[in-house]
Amino acid sequence: MNENPRSYEVRTFGCQMNVHDSERLGGLLEAAGYVRAADGDQPDVVVFNTCAVRENADNRLYGNLGQLRPTKTANPGMQIAVGGCLAQKDRGEIVKRAPWVDVVFGTHNIGSLPVLLERARHNESAEVEILESLEVFPSTLPTKRDSLYSGWVSISVGCNNSCTFCIVPALRGKEKDRRPGDILAEVQALVAEGALEVTLLGQNVNSYGVEFGDRLAFGKLLRACGDIDGLERVRFTSPHPRDFTDDVIAAMAETPNVCHSLHMPLQSGSDAVLRAMRRSYRSDKYLGIIEKVRTAMPDAAITTDIIVGFPGETDADFEATLDVVRAARFSSAFTFQYSKRPGTPAATLAGQVPKAVVQERYDRLIATLEEITWDENKRLVGRTVEVLAAVGEGRKDAATGRMSGRARDGRLVHFATGDAKVRPGDVVETVITYAAPHHLNADGPLVSHRRTRAGDLSEAPPATPVKGVLLGLPTIGLKA
Ligand code: SF4
Repeated sequence: MNENPRSYEVRTFGCQMNVHDSERLGGLLEAAGYVRAADGDQPDVVVFNTCAVRENADNRLYGNLGQLRPTKTANPGMQIAVGGCLAQKDRGEIVKRAPWVDVVFGTHNIGSLPVLLERARHNESAEVEILESLEVFPSTLPTKRDSLYSGWVSISVGCNNSCTFCIVPALRGKEKDRRPGDILAEVQALVAEGALEVTLLGQNVNSYGVEFGDRLAFGKLLRACGDIDGLERVRFTSPHPRDFTDDVIAAMAETPNVCHSLHMPLQSGSDAVLRAMRRSYRSDKYLGIIEKVRTAMPDAAITTDIIVGFPGETDADFEATLDVVRAARFSSAFTFQYSKRPGTPAATLAGQVPKAVVQERYDRLIATLEEITWDENKRLVGRTVEVLAAVGEGRKDAATGRMSGRARDGRLVHFATGDAKVRPGDVVETVITYAAPHHLNADGPLVSHRRTRAGDLSEAPPATPVKGVLLGLPTIGLKA
């Protein structure tokens, strides 16, 4: 065994896909003998898992790489690797602009990272390897998970749609579906390791099965998760309204461990803008799905993504978005000011909306959303909710003496523990005493506290969390 293993750090930018990919990068490196760098230590290998969705994403990457340059010069054995969507897009350009980078790898070959690092070290030259399509479904790679009580499981990668603002089809390719048996085996393995919750992950979970010819595959998968002993919470992200079928709503309502929370991207409430975005549903279809979900699950919390200021968006289009927001009564939303994403069709569309107009609309959207989410949250005061205690969900927990976690419907709850020794991964029931637009507080005594295996495991020495994760569960007001 290597007595001085090389240490690594993965810096993650972007969405849950990247967060999960970073867990795989950590798993791959650890399988190859690396150890995660302790907080404050200088890692031997720094991996940037990049995202290409922001207009200035590349400036940010090169800024970060520039900051590392003096460290690398002082420590010649150090290696820097760049992967993810921006690497897939910029390829060899990265080592041209930052020649001190050792490895560039793409979204289709994350499994090659340890070999590329080794080769770059041996050859003392940069290694750039980008593949056009997926070689190995990423979930078959080793994974270093960041949470004992909760895990992500990929069901598909890539996307067959062509939304004009999105870079995914260009960088992640066509949808590839994983076989249900492999997915369920991974879920079972996670539960055997103590996880209580899984989130099924795909760019468009509702089209899951298209590759092997079963349009009802996603609903069946949810029902099959219902048969896994010990699995208490099943979530998924993200569905696409175009492919949303009634059998999925029925599966959600009839499978007890599937949470009544739905994150369904709206993007715009204007049919003209949806058309320009090449999103093939219209606002009435979207609201129709929500109505069916609410009829089947009156307690469902529905969250969304909204883009403000898409090219050509008029005041009337924006008002249509506000109308849908009011009708849908979201419990939370990711909100974005449209910014050009290089490589997407929308970046060259006429009618780009001036920044001041976008800002004014954005502020109005936030105000409308906050009013609604606050009202919706107030309805929960006095109700008993079940919360899965978590780490890293409550920034002020140390000061307030509370713990934090998610209710079954996905809402963030900060709760008092009294004398109970609640560990991350334990499950409590508590009564909501106060509602804010973005969270709930429960300051009374706990109604119940269930110690779980995940909680026992959390008392083992803690793992260092992945650094630099920029997005978590949806929150209102996340600035573009
Ligand atoms: S559905 Fe549209 S927004 Fe979502 S990943 Fe596919 S192309 Fe992108």
